[in-house]
Amino acid sequence: MNQKAVATSRIARRPPRTLVVGGGFAGLAAATALVDRGHDTQLVERRPFLGGKVFSFYDPAAGHAVDNGQHAFLSAYRNTMALLDRWGAGHRVAFGRRLEMVFMEAPGRARRFAGTGLPAPLHLLGALLRFEALPVRDRLAMARPALDLLALDAAGRRELDAMSFAAWLSRHDQSPQAVAAFWEPLALAAVNGSPQEVSAYMALQVLALGFLGSERTSHLGFATEGLSALVEPFVPYFTARGGELLARREVQAVREAGERSDGFRWVVEFRDGDTLAADSVVLAVPHWRLARLVDPQLRQRAGLTASEGLAAAPIVSIQIVLDRPVVEHAAVALLASPIHWVFAAGRLRSDAPPGALALTVSAGRELATLPQDEVAAIARRELERFFPSARGAQVLACRVIKEMDATLSCAPGSEALRPAQETILPGLAVAGAWTRTGLPGTIEGAVMSGLLAVEAIERERGQACSLAQPLSDPGGAALLARWVGRALGRRAAPVESLLERNETCSK
Ligand SMILES: Cc1cc2nc3c(=O)[nH]c(=O)nc-3n(C[C@H](O)[C@H](O)[C@H](O)COP(=O)(O)OP(=O)(O)OC[C@H]3O[C@@H](n4cnc5c(N)ncnc54)[C@H](O)[C@@H]3O)c2cc1C
Repeated sequence: MNQKAVATSRIARRPPRTLVVGGGFAGLAAATALVDRGHDTQLVERRPFLGGKVFSFYDPAAGHAVDNGQHAFLSAYRNTMALLDRWGAGHRVAFGRRLEMVFMEAPGRARRFAGTGLPAPLHLLGALLRFEALPVRDRLAMARPALDLLALDAAGRRELDAMSFAAWLSRHDQSPQAVAAFWEPLALAAVNGSPQEVSAYMALQVLALGFLGSERTSHLGFATEGLSALVEPFVPYFTARGGELLARREVQAVREAGERSDGFRWVVEFRDGDTLAADSVVLAVPHWRLARLVDPQLRQRAGLTASEGLAAAPIVSIQIVLDRPVVEHAAVALLASPIHWVFAAGRLRSDAPPGALALTVSAGRELATLPQDEVAAIARRELERFFPSARGAQVLACRVIKEMDATLSCAPGSEALRPAQETILPGLAVAGAWTRTGLPGTIEGAVMSGLLAVEAIERERGQACSLAQPLSDPGGAALLARWVGRALGRRAAPVESLLERNETCSK
């Protein structure tokens, strides 16, 4: 055999080498799927820890691992839960036994939005009709958007991306009270923006994910330990299968390997000057970082320039430990308050003291500009206003965490700017909650994107596979209701006319 043939046969025999840049949930999902499929995989992470936007750190003052911000899981997060189970961390997320959310309009006045236990979508309609925060007239009016949601399939929802959720709600005769008491807290929690700020498509996607699948997809879940405990078992899983973790290593540039060296097509350059070559690369970094890693020409060729128009939305979290528990429910939305949600960390977590609370301000652009002690004072004031038993309680620890690019900003029209995970360049894929997943910036979106990126890499190698589980399909009862809704002409306003009317509206 001549030398060239020896080299070629060596290349043919070695496993494909794939590099994943970014150790958030998108990168972790991709790296897991790659080692499972026999790739020689390297995962590069800039920071000393994994998890990206999902992490915790031990706070001696608080006496437990404090999260960078409360994260809620939905039982419809099929890909996330499958990934956590694969690592052996699935038991670290506990789900409620049914759909339940608590909204507080004034001190001591908690209103439950609770599913009926009936099959979807009856559980949702039952919850709407029994929601005492609103007068009966408003509750009945809420059935209209619910029925229209049923009537729209995924393609129909997608056509609503140019419209704001607020405009969609107004087209469905939702009173200002219904928006303030229900739709706004829901949009803030699920899409990280007010109904004015987010697209109808993204809001409806989350509602469809949670409410249309089956009764079981609408349960909220929370980590029972610090968030970093969720990703902890990834490292032994990954390295036991031959994966190599390169932490504290920042990638500075990604480029094509000009001349084919040993058959590798891509080269990444590290900040310290080192380089690594690979057959394929999954770039699982935030969208604004991608623009720094890939030069404009390559971005153009890869079809990644549109994402430069995407923006991020912040989340401000206040982690407080009081000397006693003051919040009865696991999660409470505060209405007409600068603090949007209060989570009873002391109840949700096995390792936190009973008085631990996590307060969240979604899309909190204004609060994010205030000094930490002012934010803490606002949090304390609101706690005392809504929960009288907090008055006089001693604050044992308080920490304000501002995540300025917590999630993708799902402004109307942003869907068209989100790229697919597959690029036109062989061996280059992108991942991240900001890529096109059909979901807003969520853990589930991040995990799906990582799996879709690996599907793209494998397809290009002629090893097509199906890894990402699709967003839950409507259950039988929901399909029946969709059929009935359509038959009754519930979809009287076609999507196109809604869009037209919205444009007229915004003039
Ligand atoms: C406070 C807060 C609350 C949230 N609440 C929820 C919630 O309740 N439910 C939910 O589903 N989602 C929630 N989210 C959103 C969710 O956390 C994110 O959408 C998801 O974790 C994003 O994952 P990702 O892998 O796409 O990106 P990231 O987590 O941002 O990961 C990207 C990784 O790339 C690394 N990196 C960047 N540049 C480089 C480089 N040059 N070289 C090497 N590595 C690099 C980064 O350090 C990071 O680890 C919340 C987010 C925040 C911040």
